[in-house]
Amino acid sequence: MKTPRYHCAACGRVHRADRPLWRCDCGGHLNLAPGGGFRRREIVATDASLWRYAAALALRGPPRISLGEGWTPLLRRSWRRAEIHFKLESQMPTGSFKDRGTAVMLNHLIEVGVGPIHEDSSGNAGASIATYAAAAGLPCRIYVPAAAPRAKLVQIAASGADPRPISGTRQDATEAALAAAGKSFYASHNWQPFFIEGTKTLAFELWEQLGFRVPGNILVPTGYGSNILGLERGFDELERGGEITARPRLFAVQAANCAALAAAWAAGENRFVPFAARPTIADGIATPRPIRIAEILAALRRSKGGVVTVSEEEIAPALASLGRTGLFVEPTAATAGAALTQLLSDGTITAAQTTVVVLTGHGLKAADRTGELLGMGGG
Ligand SMILES: [Zn+2]
Repeated sequence: MKTPRYHCAACGRVHRADRPLWRCDCGGHLNLAPGGGFRRREIVATDASLWRYAAALALRGPPRISLGEGWTPLLRRSWRRAEIHFKLESQMPTGSFKDRGTAVMLNHLIEVGVGPIHEDSSGNAGASIATYAAAAGLPCRIYVPAAAPRAKLVQIAASGADPRPISGTRQDATEAALAAAGKSFYASHNWQPFFIEGTKTLAFELWEQLGFRVPGNILVPTGYGSNILGLERGFDELERGGEITARPRLFAVQAANCAALAAAWAAGENRFVPFAARPTIADGIATPRPIRIAEILAALRRSKGGVVTVSEEEIAPALASLGRTGLFVEPTAATAGAALTQLLSDGTITAAQTTVVVLTGHGLKAADRTGELLGMGGG
C-alpha cells in the first residue's frame, strides 16, 4: 500500500506516516488523510476480531500483535419500553473500547520502528497501551492522575509498565507526559491519528452486526472523542464504498460537571470555549480540553446529532438499570444509559428508530466507586 499521509490541522503541512510521529513540528495535531471506500466483500468473515476489516486499515501488513480485540457483542435490551442495541466495548481484552485504537496504533508504530513509549491517560487507555506494549515487548511508562480508580492503576502495573501517578487533574498528567516527549516516544492515544484508524472499525462492526444496515442513532460517552471521530471516519468509508447512503445521528454524552463539547455546542462555536470543570464520577470522560474539538463538533453537526449532558445524580440510577439487565459497566459508560433516558423522554429518540448505546468500559474497572454509588459503603 502507498504510505499514508498526515495533514496538520494547524499549518496544513503534509507528513508521510513512515516514522513515529505524534504531532506536527508547529505543535498542531495531525489527522490521517481520508481512507478509500470499504466494501462488504473485503470482510474476512472467518476472523472474529477487528482484523476482519484489515483491508480498510492504513497498515503495511498483517498485525504483529493482537489480543483478539474487536467483534464485541451487540445485545438487544428493553429500555423505557424501547428496544435498544447495547454495544459491549467493555468486553475487549483490557475491558474498555480503547483496545481498538491501541491495537491499530501500536501495530503502525511497530511497523515504522518505534522504541520505548510513554502515554498519559485517565486510566483505561493507559491500561490498554501498557498491556499491548507488554505483548509487543516495548518498554512503557504511563502517567495517570493519582486519583484514578485503583483497578486501572493495578492493571497498568500488572503489565510490567511503569505507572507514574501524578497529583492534580487529568490535565496535569498530560503536562507530565508532554514534558517527557523526547525521552521516549509519546504514544498518545489522544494525539496519534492511528488510534482513530482503529476506532473506525466500530462503525464497520455496527453496520455488519445490524445486518449491513446503518442505525438511526448512536450514543457514545465522550471525552477526547476518539469513538465519535472513528464512527465518522468508518461511515465515511462505507459511504465512499457505495455500501450505505444514510448516516446515523451521533450523540456525544458528557458529564455535566466536565463538558467541554457541551459548552462549545451551547455557544454555537466550533472551537474550545472556556468553562468551569468540576469533579465527576465519570472519570473516563473528564476531559477539560479535547484536542480535536473542532473535528468532533463538525462530525456531530454533520450527523444531525448533538451533545447530551448528564448530572452526577443521573449516573447511579442508569448504572443500576444497566446492571439489572445483565450489563455491568463503569460509571463513565453508564452516562450513555442516562443520556438514552433523556433522549427517549424528550422525544429526540423514538422506539421506532434503531438506536445503539456504546458501553465503553467494564464494571470491574471501578468496582469500589460503583459500590459507593450503589450505597454499599466501605469494603
Ligand atoms: Zn503544523
